Amino acid sequence: MTWHVPPELLVDYDTGRLDPARVMAVEAHLARCSACRSAVPADEAWLDRNWNAVLEVVDSPRRNPVEWLFARLGLPEHRARLLAATPALRWSWLTATVAVLAFAVLAAHLAEGGWPMMAFLLVAPVLPVLAVATAYGPQVDPMHEITATTPTAGPGLVLWRAATVLVVSLGLGTVASMFLPPVGWLALAWLLPALCLCLGSLALATVLPLQVAAGGLVTAWLVAVVALLDRSGDPYPAPAVRHLFEPVAQSGFLVAAVCAAAVLIMRRRRLDVGEPR
Ligand SMILES: [Zn+2]
Repeated sequence: MTWHVPPELLVDYDTGRLDPARVMAVEAHLARCSACRSAVPADEAWLDRNWNAVLEVVDSPRRNPVEWLFARLGLPEHRARLLAATPALRWSWLTATVAVLAFAVLAAHLAEGGWPMMAFLLVAPVLPVLAVATAYGPQVDPMHEITATTPTAGPGLVLWRAATVLVVSLGLGTVASMFLPPVGWLALAWLLPALCLCLGSLALATVLPLQVAAGGLVTAWLVAVVALLDRSGDPYPAPAVRHLFEPVAQSGFLVAAVCAAAVLIMRRRRLDVGEPR
């Protein structure tokens, strides 16, 4: 090496009087030249303090509230951390879900004729499916690269996350139903369709990618609803759509949910998690 940092430049560097471009040039040289490095006086105490501060942050990451709750429920730390990183359990998602439900409840109170009430029952089953569909996979989870390198990644984690977001979103929906106008049991008539769509998506995900399966079922649900609307042909189509929530249809949803659960249990190792195999 023929060039070395002139002593006066090193003094300027050490006292912080150099512009950023020259700081980078000096540091590029210092990284490769031990002679110049040893000419820069080191403040050992300062280095120790800073290194300890860095170690403290790296070694003791803070738990977010969701992770803390999972830990209190007795889940092991690694599982709590992977579950807390589920997209649908982040504040942005939870806030969006609460906002959609709040608007649906508000609409049910403001409008007449029962149609907005039906709108709540039709939208409420879709929210948990969206949460389940985005629970895992490179297309939907910004943290996926990190998640995929953990030993518990794969179908097992998909099911853990799906079950968790299902409990959370069904819980939020149930709380929202309590604020609906008094309609008796009908306020909870969206629960079985929601369960059926979620379990159906997961069962279908043993042959298709999860997001494709969920998208297909949500589309089928909305198409069925629109078909019922068309047939009624009146401005307040609640009576026609109401069929979806009557005992016959509800029993159908229950049977379908049980079948989907059975398929899922038998084929759980074949869940398509959206990763190359
Ligand atoms: Zn040098």
